Amino acid sequence: MTTDTTLERKEFQAETQQVLRLVIHSLYSHKEIFLRELISNASDACEKLRFEAIGKPELLGGDELSIRLKVDPDAGTLTVADNGVGMSREEVVDNLGTIARSGTKRFLETLSGDAAKDAQLIGQFGVGFYSAFIVADRVTVISKRADADAVRWESSGEGAYEIGPEARADRGTEVILHLREDDKEFLEEWRLRELVRKYSDHLGVPIVLESRGKRETLNQAKAFWTRPKAELTTDDYQGFFKHLVHGEDEARAWAHNKVEGALEYTSLLYLPKRAPFELFDREHRAGIQLYVKRVFIMDKAAELLPPWLRFMRGLVDTADLPLNVSRELLQNNRTVDKIRAALVKRTLDLLEELAASDAASYAEFWTTFGAVLKEGIIEDPAMRPRIAKLLRLHSTNGTGWVTLADYVARMKPDQKSIFYLTADTETAARNSPHLEGFRAQGIEVLLLTDRIDEWVVNHLREFDGKPLASAASATADVSPAIQTPERIAEEAAFKEPLERLAKALDGKIDRARLSSRLTDSPACLVFAEHGISLRMARILKQAGQNSFESPPILEINPKHPLIMRLKDIPDGAPFTEFARVLFDQALLAEGGELEDPAAFVRRVNQLIVDGLNDKPRILVG
Ligand code: ADP
Ligand code: MG
Repeated sequence: MTTDTTLERKEFQAETQQVLRLVIHSLYSHKEIFLRELISNASDACEKLRFEAIGKPELLGGDELSIRLKVDPDAGTLTVADNGVGMSREEVVDNLGTIARSGTKRFLETLSGDAAKDAQLIGQFGVGFYSAFIVADRVTVISKRADADAVRWESSGEGAYEIGPEARADRGTEVILHLREDDKEFLEEWRLRELVRKYSDHLGVPIVLESRGKRETLNQAKAFWTRPKAELTTDDYQGFFKHLVHGEDEARAWAHNKVEGALEYTSLLYLPKRAPFELFDREHRAGIQLYVKRVFIMDKAAELLPPWLRFMRGLVDTADLPLNVSRELLQNNRTVDKIRAALVKRTLDLLEELAASDAASYAEFWTTFGAVLKEGIIEDPAMRPRIAKLLRLHSTNGTGWVTLADYVARMKPDQKSIFYLTADTETAARNSPHLEGFRAQGIEVLLLTDRIDEWVVNHLREFDGKPLASAASATADVSPAIQTPERIAEEAAFKEPLERLAKALDGKIDRARLSSRLTDSPACLVFAEHGISLRMARILKQAGQNSFESPPILEINPKHPLIMRLKDIPDGAPFTEFARVLFDQALLAEGGELEDPAAFVRRVNQLIVDGLNDKPRILVG
């Protein structure tokens, strides 16, 4: 209820002004998108009305919902009008005067200064209305909800706006743009026709141009996805994608399907090229749009696709759900479950086709969304084999991507397992001591550096009948199994030093043993057969989770000069100090964090000083 009779002057919220300035500035070279934004808002308003009319059919009455573009060359105004849901005074203040969305802060931080990139961010963050000020030096909005009084809002986009009552009986919204002198081209019929065709042709609401007393419908006014595939071009699909994501982005691929039979629905799924900023924000709702018999029901219906396909965009339109379906209802609904299962398969089909037909494009997809798709290995056992084939990984075989099938094809005749090594970075992985023996034997090792890989390998377990095995596990010994006479001699020579190491590092290691995997490094840590990897233990610790940690096994390289001197080091403090250095450097080499880095530095410095003093033996006395 409002009793004002005069216009009231109000300041924009501080952030709103900042966004407004940025929008005007960054979109200056893409002026025309204002029309897409305003038409998109008008179309949203019509869809909202259709939705409200589900419970209150009298709202729709006999009107046909439409968007009108009204040109007044004498006044220099272009008006975008709709007979959609309209806004109350409070809604006008909230929607046009403040930025309530939490994403706005991030929007401000994300702006790059590159007009083309920023232009595309604008819509993603829902600041579309302000694009009106790119071409208008004054914007008037007149709006009326069916159940509220009409309201008038006006601003020149410079810090303040005025708001007050308005005499208007019809439901809907009019956005009147007082065009700047330089932007009078948007009064031209041909220009408007061209822009509607370019940006808004696919909308389900008719867009009518009213100019010089003539009326002309500019678009097909048929919900895009209901049109036959054969009639639609690549440009049409890309245009609709832009509408869906409110941006300039392109889609990489899409699948448009009409299903009839026990279940009746149309789906249009898009694989975007770029990742949304919130891709890894688990709090953020993702998902596709749900329509019931052409009526927009909800955005981000997370139930229609599993979280591991949250990068997909698109919609489902079905006749098999009630119009008043709620989010709660979607959660335990057999129809929804069936549709979701079908959409998962369809998405995997799409990815498989892309991988087969355009490896470069698939590699780009993988770089952008691969880490998300990997979640499917963990979350969906039934789809695991299909997802496994879609994985792209790095390995010691070159620097490009490899597939598990490539790897298996290159396996040595007597090689039983698919070996992998997890590490925080690719460099750390490539230089890891664990790989020395594999390299010497010419055995390929997969290098996994996404955090999620630790979980992926725990769930994938095998591919093509070949088990996955960590190159850093105690059992991953690639040396020939035969005990050479040389080895037997080494075992005897190191029996005692190994026992002393185990004693000196009691509590830190499970045991010490001779390594056959090391060629260059003195020592490394491996984890016990059924233990979790050291990196996994670190990740869990960082996440504040206590893991069941069994101590690692210390492996030493009997051919390394440092290790060969081991037996000469006297017992007691000197040996303990040396053992600690050995353990700490093995931990560092594997990407671990030292418990007491300062002590490590002190010990290493002491060893250097001893070396410089040219003592015949390290740490004597
Ligand atoms: P977005 O469309 O992404 O929400 P906009 O800046 O384009 O962001 O619009 C802000 C809000 O203003 C909309 O969410 C809507 O609530 C309201 N709005 C804008 N135009 C209209 C309209 N023609 N009819 C009803 N509401 C509108
Ligand atoms: Mg909008």
